[in-house]
Amino acid sequence: MAIQTRFIDSSEEVQRLEALQDLNILDTAPQESFDRISRMAARLFNLPIAAVSLTDSDRQWFKSRVGVEHWGIPRDKAPCAEVAETCGILVVEDFAQHPVYSNCVLSDAGIRFYAGVPLMTRDGYGLGSLCVLGTEPRTVDDSEMAALGDLAAMVMSQVELQHAFGRIEPVTGLPNRQQFIEDMTDLAIESPDRTRIAIMFDLLPATQIEQLMRIMGSSHMDDLSQEAARRLKRFCKGQGYQITPTQFACLANPDLDIDQALRQVEDLILQSDFITDISLGTRVTGGLAAFNPAQMQPKDLLRALNTAVQSARDQGRPAALYSSDDETLERRRFRLRQDFQAALQANDQLRLVFQPRVTLETESIASAEALLRWRHPNLGEISPGEFVPLIEHTAMAHQMTAFVFDAALTQLADWRSRGLDISLSLNISVTNLNHPDFVKQVLDTLQKHAIEPQWLELELTESMVISNAALALKKLEQLTKAGMKIAIDDFGTGYSSLSYLQNLPASVVKIDQSFISALKEGNRERQLVKSMIKLLHDLGYTVVAEGIELREEVDLLRALECDEGQGYVFSRPIEATALENLMMAKRLAVVA
Ligand code: C2E
Ligand code: MG
Ligand code: MG
Repeated sequence: MAIQTRFIDSSEEVQRLEALQDLNILDTAPQESFDRISRMAARLFNLPIAAVSLTDSDRQWFKSRVGVEHWGIPRDKAPCAEVAETCGILVVEDFAQHPVYSNCVLSDAGIRFYAGVPLMTRDGYGLGSLCVLGTEPRTVDDSEMAALGDLAAMVMSQVELQHAFGRIEPVTGLPNRQQFIEDMTDLAIESPDRTRIAIMFDLLPATQIEQLMRIMGSSHMDDLSQEAARRLKRFCKGQGYQITPTQFACLANPDLDIDQALRQVEDLILQSDFITDISLGTRVTGGLAAFNPAQMQPKDLLRALNTAVQSARDQGRPAALYSSDDETLERRRFRLRQDFQAALQANDQLRLVFQPRVTLETESIASAEALLRWRHPNLGEISPGEFVPLIEHTAMAHQMTAFVFDAALTQLADWRSRGLDISLSLNISVTNLNHPDFVKQVLDTLQKHAIEPQWLELELTESMVISNAALALKKLEQLTKAGMKIAIDDFGTGYSSLSYLQNLPASVVKIDQSFISALKEGNRERQLVKSMIKLLHDLGYTVVAEGIELREEVDLLRALECDEGQGYVFSRPIEATALENLMMAKRLAVVA
């Protein structure tokens, strides 16, 4: 049989090699399925040798083989390389008679017969061949070659299946992050100058995912992803991607401008009855970014979309546009997260300040809340409102709370030893409650400083407990059993029902400052706080008002029989010595 030779131009060669790399069959495709096909081919021809052979720029090698020891041969004068290049069938009936192959590695090894069919991608690139070899000259018939062709098609189906596995999310059937990146890269080639708008839908903040998995199980997450995928497909006419288990992306209709696209996404989210975390009432959040495909790398685009989502969350809005200011904020957050580890190690960056809590009836100081402060060596004072939310869901939350406990109890022990009758309130984070040794470590620290548990109160927020229900409850009960008090902080800002809160072993409720600062707005706001206090009293809680700034608020809250108050009107958070002085002064004032 005559050999066909064809000149392969270099761009075609590059494309073929890219297709080979792209399919990633070098490492990932399961060996056994290829071996099985090779064995079938050998049996079909009743020959000792068969192979799935792949061709790269300078070598031809076997993905699978029967009857040969070596894994590869030089590409030069390799019949499989010819099959891959020409994408045509090649049969060499007798190597000894062949003008090219009579003198090659295979003929030197005693091979006399070869039949190979190309392995071709759907796009028509030849990757290699499925071949059979024999040590005697031989002819072939049409049915044998047709069967070899069918086996080659099976090899390619296997390859494509494997390829699809790497590009499609099995749970939703949507193309994945890798596919998004490739499609955006293609877009940069196809229409480099056309500005497009990318949209991301984020089901949950990263911090909630783990909790939700723990409480509801992974099948609940799968249900959420599937429902989101269904809605996304409807929204973007089947063109969506799943970037992570909880993040979905698509491109906006090219006819929309950015404001129209934002409105469309906001409408979709607001009208949707899709709540992703029932216990917290969390809704999907959207992020949009306008981009020029040729100027923005796909990974940078994903980062911009994430930043936009975060910015929407920060503003409590259903969706937001990416802006480079947000990016600056993200960079700062990243830096703070990184630098906090050093702050924990340094002895001059973190410290506690104390804000007195006052009995409204007498205006005497009953206790104080310890509040963490961070003086960053370059950025100056960082508010805990900024850094605590960044840290509290990371592993550093544990070290942060350990620092607070140690510093607070050292201070409390000192005050108590000097006859100052005060107790302290400490804030804890959700990650603390998840730590298996949390209770033991709290009790050990108390013992180390010889502190009575009843001098200590732990503040936690509603959402913290709700998202951890059973586990948290057990730990809180152990702490209260030991004699510690539990306070619910920022009351009214979560979604919990009072009947739910009643399951908690808390004895104190701190009404969030947003309700107190709203008191001056009118009768309705006053009625709300009045009802809250009444209800909480009926349920047996001590009620504390947070963030009292005005004298009128003190008077009103006293009239509403609120038990205690905290706020700038009494004192800002202050250094330990300042609190001592304040307590002395108050005592003197009372004595006088
Ligand atoms: P929080 O526990 O609700 O603390 C009360 C916050 O309100 C404090 O802010 C306090 O300075 C502020 N505040 C007190 N009185 C007034 C007032 O009259 N008006 C206004 N506008 N604000 C007032 P700070 O110290 O910035 O802390 C913010 C939040 O950071 C705290 O809210 C708490 O959630 C968290 N945090 C602070 N220290 C710690 C800590 O040691 N551990 C943990 N886990 N979180 C902490
Ligand atoms: Mg607090
Ligand atoms: Mg609070």
